[in-house]
Amino acid sequence: MSTETRTSIVWDYAPAPESTDHVRLAARYGLFIDGDFREPAAPRYEASVNPATEEPLAEVAWAGAEDVARAVDAARAAQPKWAALPELERAKYLFRIARLIQERARELAVVETLDGGKPVRESRDVDIPLAAAHFFHYAGWADKLRYGVNAREVAPLGVVGQIVPWNFPLLMAAWKLAPALACGNTAILKPAETTPLTALLLAEICREAELPPGVVSILPGDGETGAALVRAPGIDKIAFTGSTAVGRDIQAALAGRPVKLTLELGGKSANIVFEDAALDQAVEGIVNGIFFNQGHVCCAGSRLLVQESVLDEAVARLWRRMGRLRVGDPLDKNTDVGAINSAEQLQRIEALVAAGESEGAQRRTIACEVPERGYWFAPTLFTDVSPAHRIAVEEIFGPVVSVLSFRTQAEAIEKANNSRYGLAAGIWTDKGAKAFEVAAALRAGVVWQNTYNHFDPTAAFGGYKESGFGREGGPAGLRPYLQVVR
Ligand code: NAD
Repeated sequence: MSTETRTSIVWDYAPAPESTDHVRLAARYGLFIDGDFREPAAPRYEASVNPATEEPLAEVAWAGAEDVARAVDAARAAQPKWAALPELERAKYLFRIARLIQERARELAVVETLDGGKPVRESRDVDIPLAAAHFFHYAGWADKLRYGVNAREVAPLGVVGQIVPWNFPLLMAAWKLAPALACGNTAILKPAETTPLTALLLAEICREAELPPGVVSILPGDGETGAALVRAPGIDKIAFTGSTAVGRDIQAALAGRPVKLTLELGGKSANIVFEDAALDQAVEGIVNGIFFNQGHVCCAGSRLLVQESVLDEAVARLWRRMGRLRVGDPLDKNTDVGAINSAEQLQRIEALVAAGESEGAQRRTIACEVPERGYWFAPTLFTDVSPAHRIAVEEIFGPVVSVLSFRTQAEAIEKANNSRYGLAAGIWTDKGAKAFEVAAALRAGVVWQNTYNHFDPTAAFGGYKESGFGREGGPAGLRPYLQVVR
């Protein structure tokens, strides 16, 4: 009996582009202040560009110091009434925002992908549902605040300034706004310069939800706008997510002022694979840990630590798996790795990858065709990495994983903790006791066991060391927006 071997069939995916027909972006967006879109005091409009095509999507007003002052006045005026609303009434607004995000989920997902370059599969399945979930979660907390803070009597802080990065634009806005509003604060949000569009759609949603004017203002702009917000008189708290360098600048600017601060900064997180791990499962976790959102993830598992006895096998399987990643059009539902967010970010990735090569690490980049226009970087793996190499120390914020090895559990812990960052870590093992023992020894805000990049609104997220301070998510996320009165 002969068996037929079918080796010649090439299984591939047909293109499955998400439609953009339902997206209605305005040609121009003003600043969202006091419940409406307004002209900036000194007219400055910048195009928000699609990083996958380099085509402009819409013009967006950038706020200056005068606009920031105007937003602060509106937020100050609105705050006492907002805080005095019965807690369940405040919650209703948050529920409404959550429901409206769900209603407009498809549109928001497509705009997030157009503006930021991430695969639509991720915007659709992760960013937008999680943004809605954060509003739902904190809506539920609005009438239970004191139970989130050890049954103490609490009060809001007042007016909060919130600055977010470009890697999860709507989700980071939700992480910031939902707890702030639930606690009775009013908020001024500054989206990142390359990804303001979903925040502006969120402004429309706030208006549709009939949120009282001044409760939320949205001021796009660059670092100067952010710096103006940090320095504006009348702000009671700054919540910042972004790079460690800017976090440091903000901390210095606020020193000596009675302004509270939380910082969610960078990371160089260790993903630790022990020899007893289920290797195929671990490989999926490694891929998700570093190639999700093109590696533009603060907690990306960018330092892969593999036990020496399984190093070759793990790297071989990872490399095989990487070869099957589809890189390209972010709007295609089959795409795994989309466009790099901006030309500047692409340059940063290229510079660090070049440093990795010149320092002697072995580079492997998957072969793939990428579109002619736009910003792209193919998934890359570095082996023969020493802990002193820049690619093992610095945040690359791109689809690049650096592989290091270890022999013992103690060495794994030591290497994982040998970083100025401490945001997240992953542990892959089939021994529960080992996982808990290692987790307890790691200086990282979040430790995932046999999974990675798993987010949930009920769980606290935040860092140690140069990854920042303060927590977002869950009851811990209420604390930075409240003061204990008694
Ligand atoms: P970035 O620090 O350059 O910018 C972040 C935001 O700060 C942007 O809105 C920017 O306009 C604003 N900004 C820039 N200069 C400012 C200043 N002097 N004062 C006030 N605001 C200013 O960071 P990025 O390149 O947009 O984002 C990438 C960084 O963010 C990475 O380091 C990443 O690890 C970090 N990040 C951290 C988390 C977290 O939760 N820990 C989440 C996402 C991203």
